Amino acid sequence: MGEKKFKKNKHTRTKKTYIKQVRNKDYRKVILARIVAILAIVIFLYYGAKNYNVSLSPKPEIYVSSYNLMQADTLLVTVKNETNKITGKFGDINLRFFNGENDNGWIAITGIPINKNPGDYKLSINVPGIDTFKKNITVLKRNFPLTKLAITPELLNKGYTAKKIVTTIDSIENKALNEVLNVINPDIYVKKPFIYPLSDINVVGNFGDIRAAQGYQVQHFGVDLKAAMGTFVYAVNDGKAVFMENLPNYGKMVIIDHGFGMYSLYLHLSEFKVTKGQMVTQGDIVALSGDTGYATGPHLHFSIKVRGAALDPLKFIGATQTSWIKF
Ligand SMILES: [Zn+2]
Repeated sequence: MGEKKFKKNKHTRTKKTYIKQVRNKDYRKVILARIVAILAIVIFLYYGAKNYNVSLSPKPEIYVSSYNLMQADTLLVTVKNETNKITGKFGDINLRFFNGENDNGWIAITGIPINKNPGDYKLSINVPGIDTFKKNITVLKRNFPLTKLAITPELLNKGYTAKKIVTTIDSIENKALNEVLNVINPDIYVKKPFIYPLSDINVVGNFGDIRAAQGYQVQHFGVDLKAAMGTFVYAVNDGKAVFMENLPNYGKMVIIDHGFGMYSLYLHLSEFKVTKGQMVTQGDIVALSGDTGYATGPHLHFSIKVRGAALDPLKFIGATQTSWIKF
């Protein structure tokens, strides 16, 4: 009886264990099947998104200032509603994005050097966790007119000749300026679009004109704006006054560093209203206009440099204020 009971119990236990094992096996199979299914969905979504350009997250709002740019133009790229740091490339130039004010999103400003080869350049924007978006931007050739380098009798009396102007600009003044302009400040001071340096804008000398006299020539890498003696000159954006000198041709001049290699230059001033190293806010009076240096009369010469490249300054300001085109 005892033996029988034992046997029965043994049998029962074995049967129970068997059932338990079978149940465990089924359970494992179910778990395994679920894992495989989840993996398949993940792989499908990942490769599906890649192959068919279907994003797991919605495509961010991306805008560019233009798809067709000329030499010396400005390219502005804006990415909205993204919290992650955006990166990008235009041709072989790495774009540097900063966070704009009032939810303006991530903004990158870059310039087309005046001597950049015309053609198509790839603009790629990487939005972390979503995708890299690519399109072509066309750079067109811009022709600049040949004009006369004006030397008035008053300037001649002061010792200005074509040879002296051109050689001094090349060998002394631009060398001094380039030491400042080739520095790419890793800090950015800009948070909003640029403004004009004067209340009234009247162009009296175009950007890019090639001015020649007596076998010498110099290209005008800024714009001349009408300004009576002593007109207020405003900081076009937030930044730091990094250069204040009185040079033979450029006269009394101020350079403001806006960060990321962006600089604004104000020439032929009569009076400085800031000191070297001072932080300035957009719209601050930085100087009074004048006719110091090589100038045929009072005016403001205004220049914009981005990573050492001279850009058309009024088009630069316009690009930063432009209503953006969808990318
Ligand atoms: Zn000028």
